[in-house]
Amino acid sequence: MSDSEAAPANHFIRQKVREDLEQGRVEAPIRTRFPPEPNGYLHIGHAKSICLNFGIAAEFGGECNLRFDDTNPEKEDTEYVEAIADDVRWLGFEWANTCFASDYFEQLYAFALQLIDAGLAYVDDQDADAIRSNRGSLTEPGQNSPYRERSPSENRSLFEAMRAGEFADGEKVLRAKIDMAAPNINLRDPLLYRIRRVAHHRTGDAWCLYPLYDFTHGLSDAIEGVTHSLCTLEFADHRPLYDWLIANVDAPATPKQTEFARLKLEHTVVSKRKLAALVEHGVVNGWDDPRMPTLRGLRRRGYPAAAVRTFCERIGVTRKDAWIDFEQFEVCARDHLNQHAERRLAVLDPIKVRLSNLPAEAAVTLSIANHPQNPDCGERPVSTSDTLWIERDDFAEVPPSKWKRLKPGGEVRLRGAWVIRCDEVIHGDDGRVAELVCSVDLDTLGKSPEGRKVKGVIHWVDAATACAAEVRAYDRLFAVPNPAAEADMMAALNPDSLTIYPDAQVEASLATAEAGTVLQFERIGYFCVDPDSNDERRVFNRTVGLRDTWAR
Ligand code: ATP
Ligand code: MG
Repeated sequence: MSDSEAAPANHFIRQKVREDLEQGRVEAPIRTRFPPEPNGYLHIGHAKSICLNFGIAAEFGGECNLRFDDTNPEKEDTEYVEAIADDVRWLGFEWANTCFASDYFEQLYAFALQLIDAGLAYVDDQDADAIRSNRGSLTEPGQNSPYRERSPSENRSLFEAMRAGEFADGEKVLRAKIDMAAPNINLRDPLLYRIRRVAHHRTGDAWCLYPLYDFTHGLSDAIEGVTHSLCTLEFADHRPLYDWLIANVDAPATPKQTEFARLKLEHTVVSKRKLAALVEHGVVNGWDDPRMPTLRGLRRRGYPAAAVRTFCERIGVTRKDAWIDFEQFEVCARDHLNQHAERRLAVLDPIKVRLSNLPAEAAVTLSIANHPQNPDCGERPVSTSDTLWIERDDFAEVPPSKWKRLKPGGEVRLRGAWVIRCDEVIHGDDGRVAELVCSVDLDTLGKSPEGRKVKGVIHWVDAATACAAEVRAYDRLFAVPNPAAEADMMAALNPDSLTIYPDAQVEASLATAEAGTVLQFERIGYFCVDPDSNDERRVFNRTVGLRDTWAR
């Protein structure tokens, strides 16, 4: 972890773990787990859970497992398992054990038999619709199933027959026998097992019945000896069932569940299902599109993992839902990049400048510092010649008042080089400025000009050695703060979320920059080399601007 990361704030989970240890409710070492379902890619919401689970374990000398909750074979795949592991590592965490709920299928089946033998689970023949309609509502109790009073021995042989493949999909289910009138609907004889003839990405065709999430999750925690099972608030109502299951089987440990608020981030969506819809509709170019809030997207965009960790620490952990503005994340990214990213010269939308009085022998190779505050970053050679590129925005033919950049007859300093004066403006056939003819004050390299003040400094790139580049600038993916609440999420997309600068010019030193490198383009922002780059053309993603320009 880097020095820029915030000191831990004292949130309620940290406090609870400390008290559990101090008061002997939990024996050290503590154990946590991060339990994704391998059915998609991780997003920044998951990062909150990862940082919390791994952070708490590390802080108290404990361990954190990476557990794949893989009980829905239809949607799961090893592709996601590998991507998730890779993303967690990228975030900077290493887990004690890689676990799979599917590794516990045999043990879970044995737990189910224990419930059956104790008269606490039964095989139900009702179909899904009947089960749903007999469940009751928030105001009405449910109806007991006509199969609820089956004897333990009948249930055992039916359940064994379910496993042996003697029934069709959906023909029978296993349910816990708790209370059909419980005010908490999760306790109204919840489903524990269903028959599904679907190959599982790890167990193949070994099973035709699969345990449900609630049954699997808590008992997997118990099998792993998890002490603190940290999950999001929507599971608070499932906690009585979590405790009931652990209390009623021969569980090797008694984990306790604690809930915290999900991360809700404005102008984007953090739900795998909604992110998948964006990919399927082709409104983004895949899960790693730099506009996506997936960890892959953030990484390709150039956001450092340390910035994600700092963000997760700064937003804190509470039991109250709160919307967080994306800008809060960008602040963390800028803080980090300002310290760590080397500076380079690049022009996104170039105009050509011809230096009319620069003799070949005066064209020097400058040595420019890579980082203004960090001499350890060294210096690099930057060539000059009689032709260069400047940003179209840095020239105004009819400047507004107080204009400090280049204008006809005006002077400006080229960053790290001379002062130039614009003597002539040449227009193209389209009426746009095509070229500026400027003269150089050769006596201004590293010193102020004689007898006058030149306030403006602009960036530039030597045209003789420049590399052509495509720069992709990103904005918020959605035009509204909470797109998930819109009737049509797709209609709320920001049509300007991607701006391409196809003719950018970058300094020669960037010709060999590796994909993933993040740099500050002086005066513009932070940019990351995209893997789409090739020898002819560099591609850069704008990670974040130098300051917040998002119009509220
Ligand atoms: P999604 O709805 O995006 O699919 P999920 O909760 O279904 O998310 P899981 O893979 O089951 O995805 O989640 C793994 C862990 O990450 C869970 O403990 C879950 O509570 C947590 N998590 C998921 N989204 C968020 C979020 N936005 N903020 C905090 N934690 C989250
Ligand atoms: Mg889930």
